[in-house]
Amino acid sequence: MKNEIRSDWNLEEAQSIYNKPLLELVYEAATMHRKYHNPSEVQISSLLSVKTGGCKEDCSYCPQAARYHTDIKVHGMLNPVDVVDKAKQAKAAGANRMCLGAAWREVRDNRDLDKVLEMVRGINELDMEVCCTLGMLTESQAQKLSDAGVYAYNHNIDTSEDFYGDVISTRTYSDRLNTLDNVRKAKMTVCSGGIIGMGESTDDRLKMLITLANLDQQPESVPINTLVPVPGTPLEEQGQVEFEDLLRMIATARIMMPKAAVRLSAGRLERSRLEQGFCFMAGANSIFAGDKLLTTPNPEFNADMDMFKFFGLTAMPSIHEKQKAQQTSEATV
Ligand code: SF4
Repeated sequence: MKNEIRSDWNLEEAQSIYNKPLLELVYEAATMHRKYHNPSEVQISSLLSVKTGGCKEDCSYCPQAARYHTDIKVHGMLNPVDVVDKAKQAKAAGANRMCLGAAWREVRDNRDLDKVLEMVRGINELDMEVCCTLGMLTESQAQKLSDAGVYAYNHNIDTSEDFYGDVISTRTYSDRLNTLDNVRKAKMTVCSGGIIGMGESTDDRLKMLITLANLDQQPESVPINTLVPVPGTPLEEQGQVEFEDLLRMIATARIMMPKAAVRLSAGRLERSRLEQGFCFMAGANSIFAGDKLLTTPNPEFNADMDMFKFFGLTAMPSIHEKQKAQQTSEATV
């Protein structure tokens, strides 16, 4: 049988998948999805910004960069008790994974990191998976997060290496890959994807997927974001990505990274219920729920639950819930 988990993808192969007749592409992606996942389960993550704005980086899409004049509400590090309370609310509403985001260039070994570690321990006790997105990490910081119980670390590569300098000048592509390496060494799972609609070519998008698919170990989570242009950022004038482009990206990501959770991320608010359903069909099996995605609007939780009902989808259990269920079934055998 052909090996489907490969780390030697090239551009011609990615193009030949991406450019298939659309329904053929969706069918192939859906077939791959069914082989490696339960197609009726979708992972629901809740994303909370624990420190917003004032970031030193110059990511052209981001309203949290201090150098751009946007109207986001800047705030310092939240209190860990309040964050754990919010996690409880998210769990009660159906989320099984909590992502904590901080607008930092890189993590520093200071009291703010200690607070994040306290949040992580508290959320783990709720049997939720904890994911963090805090910027660049050294090996020892990655280990501290892992020891505190961080299950996944999000660090997007955003786009292709060739286009990276058009979007961000304050760090390099290899800085990004280095952090992903540190995450792996610390035995956290990797969540890494990117954004489409920043002015890049289709080949740039495919090269981004190739970089991810060809990592020593493919990411467990791959968020596919579409740009939400925010007034005050350099990309404020960008037009909306065509739905067909998003669908092709999701399907191609699913085929190239069969085991990953492919996340339909930022930009979901701009898509109809049926368009989102098409994305689930093509292999998307993870979303962020809640009415804010760090700082950009996201569909309301109830609307998402209605959509799940409409499509016959259910929330994927967290890794803790899966482990408990396995222990119970083993104990009863
Ligand atoms: S994307 Fe992250 S690193 Fe870039 S400016 Fe925004 S908060 Fe800072």
